[in-house]
Amino acid sequence: MSKQKVTLIAGDGIGPEVAAAATRVLDASGANLEWEPHVAGAKALEEFKDPLPDHVVESIRRNKVALKGPVETKIGGGFKSINVRLRQELDLYANLRPSRSLPSITTRFTDVDLVVVRENTEGLYSGLEHEVVPGVVESLKIITEKASTRIAKFAFDYARRHGRKKVTAVHKANIMKLSDGLFLDCFRKVAPGYPEIQADEKIIDNMCMQLVMYPERSDVLVMENLYGDIVSDLCSGLVGGLGVVPGANLGTHASVFEAVHGTAPDIAGQNIANPLALIRSGIMMLYHLHKDEEAERVRRALRKVIVDKGIKTRDLGGEATTTEFTDAIVRELEVDSNVGPQLPA
Ligand code: NAD
Repeated sequence: MSKQKVTLIAGDGIGPEVAAAATRVLDASGANLEWEPHVAGAKALEEFKDPLPDHVVESIRRNKVALKGPVETKIGGGFKSINVRLRQELDLYANLRPSRSLPSITTRFTDVDLVVVRENTEGLYSGLEHEVVPGVVESLKIITEKASTRIAKFAFDYARRHGRKKVTAVHKANIMKLSDGLFLDCFRKVAPGYPEIQADEKIIDNMCMQLVMYPERSDVLVMENLYGDIVSDLCSGLVGGLGVVPGANLGTHASVFEAVHGTAPDIAGQNIANPLALIRSGIMMLYHLHKDEEAERVRRALRKVIVDKGIKTRDLGGEATTTEFTDAIVRELEVDSNVGPQLPA
């Protein structure tokens, strides 16, 4: 059988460490992937005078799938975020970020199982900012009927496919009456097409309070770009932190799988980063590629290592280095015993 080509962007900071771990694990799963490595970010700017060269975008277009580590975006000045460009150029309109409590990863909560669906192409991330006069700047929040309807449909379709009970639109339409008002309006028009799923609405500030007090009450949450970015970090804090939460940027023609976390410059190069979030993004990618058997093999290996053997990285209270944790998973994959319940992807 021919290999499935996957564009690989290792990224900056801890990116190369967690990408190396994830590719080792995915290779050991027998998924028969052929990695096509590419450079993006500061290194690409140096080499190609563009932090996101055309050939990188073309590679993803051709392969239709990519695994990506985090890339650095300078605060204030510097080049436009590569993530934002990638999502806009490839129209990766839905960012799916599931946060679930995991056995033996202890937090204050035990039964969190929610999914953030973030609109990925517009909102305040449109990058339309300008100085009106010195001392006054404007940042434009773009909300369109097309993108809002599309993301609402995506959230309800996802809920239907995965047997979810409720979709909550998260908004601030009481203040941003036109922009968030349109987003909410589109959600309300889409919802009746899914009568078996409860359509719920929450103002974002109340939503944040509800999430930290009663996270078990949330199911699928759909929101515009900036809210989705912030709320998904909050949700990762409910289930063990940024080291564990995976993500997928999904479009009609291509998909990019990447963890929620950033480049973690404070721990980069120390072999202590948790590769679990990118490995779990890889599991999402395997399911997307219809490689269910291999995805389940990785889940079994994760369960063995984390739950049965208690091997964890430092961020989860363990002592394993990135390499030790990865070695343990690869060893399990090599002796895949095919028993026991699995960790959710
Ligand atoms: P961050 O996610 O990099 O780090 C926040 C905290 O979480 C840090 O203390 C870090 O050590 C910890 N952490 C993150 N991932 C971890 C892991 N896998 N294992 C253990 N600990 C982990 O957020 P930040 O510091 O705000 O951002 C740093 C850079 O990353 C910025 O340049 C930002 O633009 C970029 N960023 C990129 C992406 C992406 O490429 N998808 C996403 C978010 C942030």
